[in-house]
Amino acid sequence: MTEAKKRPPCPICNKPNVKEFRPFCSAKCADIDLGKWFSGAYVVPGEPVSKSDIETDEGG
Ligand SMILES: [Zn+2]
Repeated sequence: MTEAKKRPPCPICNKPNVKEFRPFCSAKCADIDLGKWFSGAYVVPGEPVSKSDIETDEGG
């Protein structure tokens, strides 16, 4: 059984990855992935807001 060395494709553009930039195909794609990380890593989803700050005046 001869199985070629199957490497996972670049997660960014799906091209065959390059050893030097694994798992990406190029430094560019690696950079894109890194950028995605940074843009999301520092943002906390569902930021806690003060209830008193968004108090609604309904009825009363
Ligand atoms: Zn790529």
